[in-house]
Amino acid sequence: MQIIRTIEELRVFKKNHCSKSIGFVPTMGALHLGHLSLIKNSVSNNDITIVSLFVNPTQFGVNEDFDIYPRMEDKDIELCKSAGADAVFIPSIDMLYPNGLDNEVILFPPKKMANVFEGAFRSNHFSGVLRVVLKLFNLINPSNAYFGKKDAQQLLIIKKMVNDLFLDINIVSCDTIRDKNNLALSSRNIYLDSRSYEMALKIPQAIRSAISLVMVNNLESKKIENAALDCLKGLDVDYCNIVDLNLETIDMVKKDSSLLIIAARVGKVRLLDNCWF
Ligand code: AMP
Repeated sequence: MQIIRTIEELRVFKKNHCSKSIGFVPTMGALHLGHLSLIKNSVSNNDITIVSLFVNPTQFGVNEDFDIYPRMEDKDIELCKSAGADAVFIPSIDMLYPNGLDNEVILFPPKKMANVFEGAFRSNHFSGVLRVVLKLFNLINPSNAYFGKKDAQQLLIIKKMVNDLFLDINIVSCDTIRDKNNLALSSRNIYLDSRSYEMALKIPQAIRSAISLVMVNNLESKKIENAALDCLKGLDVDYCNIVDLNLETIDMVKKDSSLLIIAARVGKVRLLDNCWF
C-alpha cells in the first residue's frame, strides 16, 4: 500500500493506474470497523482503492473539537493496509488549502438541506464538508466514492452536490456498522466513559422502537418520534425527526424514501444515529 502525502505523488500514482477504476473512501481518520466496511466495499468493487485521512478544519465550528479530534495516523495506515486499500492519501492543511481557509471559492449547499438539523447546530458545517469533498473528488477523480448512511444529512447533501454539479461519480451509500450493543460506531465514542456509554445505548433502543412501529405499518411520524423520544429520556436530544430524502419533515413515513434522524448529547459527547425506512 502506498502512502501519499503530496498532490504531485497522487498525480504520479494515478498516472500509473490510469486505466483502472478508482474507489475512494474519504475519512477523518481514527478508523474503526465502520470505516473499514466502506474500504472493503470499495476494494471488492474497484481496481484501486484510495482512502484519505484528513481532519478537515473548515467543517468544524470555532467551539468544536478540531484540536482534540482523535488522530492516530500509524494505526490508521495499518488498518487501511489490512482492509486491502492500495493507497492512503494524507494531505496537510496547507496542501489542500494553499490560499488559506478564508481566501477561496466556497460552496454553499441549499439552506433548506444544510441549515437544518446538524446545520442548525453547526453553522457552515456542510459548506466545509462540500469544500473538502469536492477538492478530494477533483484530485482523485474516482468512479465510485463511499459514504456511510450513519451521517445521513452529509450523504444526502453530497449526493445533491454530485447531481447539481454534474460530477461523474457514483456515490455508494454504506450501511451503519454497530457494536455488540447496537451503538453506531463513531470516532467520538472513545470520549464515552462507561456510564455515558450505558446512557448512549438509549439511542439504538429508540431506533428499535421506531422500527417496530414501522414494521406493523404504524407510519405516523409523530407517533414514531414520540416512541423514540420516550426511549431517549435522560439524554439531551437535539432532534429526533422523521424526514424525507430532501431533509423535510413529513407526517407519514414513506417506505424507501424516509428516515428517522437523531442527534443527542450524553454529557459533552454528541452522538448521531438514524434509521432508513
Ligand atoms: P468520518 O471519519 O467520521 O468523517 O467518517 C468517514 C466516513 O465513514 C463517512 O462517510 C461516515 O459516514 C462513515 N462512517 C462513520 N461511522 C460509520 C459507521 N458506524 N458505519 C458505517 N460508516 C460509517
